Amino acid sequence: MGNSAWDTVTNRAVWLADGVAGLPAGLAGGRYRCQACRERLVLKGVKPGAKVAPYFSHPNEKACTRPQQEAQLDADTEVVIRLRDTIRAFPGFHADVHVLGEDLDNPSGLPPVIICTHGETTVALEHPGPSLPDSEVLRRRIRAVREYHDGARHVWFLRKDPNQFRRRGSLTVRYDGRDEEHHTVAPTEQQEAIVAAGGQVYWLDGRLVLIPYGVHWFLHPVRPGQDWTKWPKWRSDPRADWRISKPSPARDANCWGWYPSPCRP
Ligand SMILES: [Zn+2]
Repeated sequence: MGNSAWDTVTNRAVWLADGVAGLPAGLAGGRYRCQACRERLVLKGVKPGAKVAPYFSHPNEKACTRPQQEAQLDADTEVVIRLRDTIRAFPGFHADVHVLGEDLDNPSGLPPVIICTHGETTVALEHPGPSLPDSEVLRRRIRAVREYHDGARHVWFLRKDPNQFRRRGSLTVRYDGRDEEHHTVAPTEQQEAIVAAGGQVYWLDGRLVLIPYGVHWFLHPVRPGQDWTKWPKWRSDPRADWRISKPSPARDANCWGWYPSPCRP
């Protein structure tokens, strides 16, 4: 029994703890769908005097056929709802949870997206679960967000979970007059697909946001009169250097560096 459902009429995520005022009870023409298995859900417990709190039931009170995904999506949706409430607490910000880019047969596995507006600015904010669906599913979501609000920034906050990055090494970066050690990662195909579509990817690590930039390795050219053939192999080549691409890593970056930035409350 899930705590959330896709309302296919409004394309919003229904979160039971928000209340169900104004929503029709029962099967309601099949408008409520399970996020995990796509079965039509029945909204129960909404009649005045009902002895149970409102809940969504699979037909005939059967259990979901994809119980693990159901539990995972419910947990991921709850995290998204809490983030929505945090955003709503800021004066002037509006935030709602939408179900975009889903089709009836092929669930994306993504929790709802938060559409956040402040004045003229709209940001689509994603906070997926432990792993990302494949790139084609992500592109479907990206297109749907664009159709919903052309010009919205599409921002993905990933978990710092082993599924969400592959560590490469580290990089010493001179920043603000000090040397800092940054981690470098190899982006996954999905992360590259998000950036290629104009989106932005960040990782949340406790109270840090890890902001990626592109790392491009290169060798400085040999100057006239220099002879590098006798340079000992075991010493690092002082011609080796790197340049950066930001604010988004360029497509041809060799790897991504992580700039750790404290979360502002
Ligand atoms: Zn289900």
